[in-house]
Amino acid sequence: MKLVPIEDVRSLPRPPIGELLDEAIKLLRTCRVTETIQLDEGYNVCLADYKRFHALKILGVRFIPASINCRERVDLSLEDLGFREDLDFNPMKVCRNHTELIKACWPTPLIRLNSLSSGSREVWAKLEYLNPFSNSIKDRIGWYMIIDALENGRILHGTRSIYEASSTNTGIALSCIGKSLNLKTRIYLPRTVQRCSDIYLRLLGSEVIRVQEQLTVEAINLVRQDSIRDNALHIDQFENDANFICHLRYTSKELDYQLKSIGLKPRRIICALGTSGHASAISFYFKNRYGDEVEVVGVQPANDETIPGMRRVETGMKWIHYVKIDHVVDVTRREAIEGLTKVSSMDGLPIGLSSGAIIAGLEKLSERDGVSVLVFPDHFYKYAEAFLNCTQL
Ligand code: PLP
Repeated sequence: MKLVPIEDVRSLPRPPIGELLDEAIKLLRTCRVTETIQLDEGYNVCLADYKRFHALKILGVRFIPASINCRERVDLSLEDLGFREDLDFNPMKVCRNHTELIKACWPTPLIRLNSLSSGSREVWAKLEYLNPFSNSIKDRIGWYMIIDALENGRILHGTRSIYEASSTNTGIALSCIGKSLNLKTRIYLPRTVQRCSDIYLRLLGSEVIRVQEQLTVEAINLVRQDSIRDNALHIDQFENDANFICHLRYTSKELDYQLKSIGLKPRRIICALGTSGHASAISFYFKNRYGDEVEVVGVQPANDETIPGMRRVETGMKWIHYVKIDHVVDVTRREAIEGLTKVSSMDGLPIGLSSGAIIAGLEKLSERDGVSVLVFPDHFYKYAEAFLNCTQL
């Protein structure tokens, strides 16, 4: 048996997400590997092992235990294979490129919210606005979807443009990361998005198309048709498994090790729902590692309400169907602004509207004892227009 760096190994393309997750479940539940992966002399994975290989890859190990032309029994933990090493990247934060810059910001900080913690209740927040490009959780998937497309040959020589529908954050992330790789970006913004988004995106060199639709996801067919016509890549955060995989490999793992480092066991984790990428990955990771002792709560806009970046489950989400979300809580825009105002003014944190919705979601839960972890997707600077006519302030 030898440990082989994962980037030295060649395999068939990633299997469909359902089959991949079946393999990942086995690994996450035990956190151990009991058999080597069989390779040939050219380091190609044998057919029987390719799903297990990809499951190890999406969990972010650095090495795989391999044997040439045979399989052997082993007993190795995921940590023996470098599972944690993604998190110890670049401590001096000196960056040669965009990939190093984004990774230098990880893990994003976890902070205790004093305004909401007391007695048996502890509330902690993961600050995703400390990502470097869009100042949002969407930097993660913007970066990973592009890297994944390059790795899997979806960005070819003839395809130098990326088209995407976004409510701003993914658009900014793709614009920045695309620019660093000489890729053009065209972003489709629904009519409900604040006007300053056009300016931010144009400043970053992107083309902006305003569409009549209210929700980002409703513009998908148009983006798909245009991308086929123009030989561009529709990166499609709503269907692209790299979205979910990125949050499994990085966001969830970070949170797990951050909580472990201070000896905390979460009772619940609360996330805003948009594509469902981060909520689904967090649920998949924590429930397979720790079972139903960790509840996962999704927050969605109440009927006929808009909260930027968020939408209702029934509008269609891909990965939520592979995982368990214990509660889905409805929040109005007004309640989201109240939540935002509370944490901004009492904890001194400039959180965005979907983060405010998460605060409101927490306050609506009947059971709130124990440790609650909130994932705050972005900050309030982008939403000044939403506050201009707001009588609550
Ligand atoms: N909050 C904000 C501000 C967002 O931009 C998004 C997604 O666009 C979300 C929450 C939802 O995240 P996800 O798409 O991972 O469900």
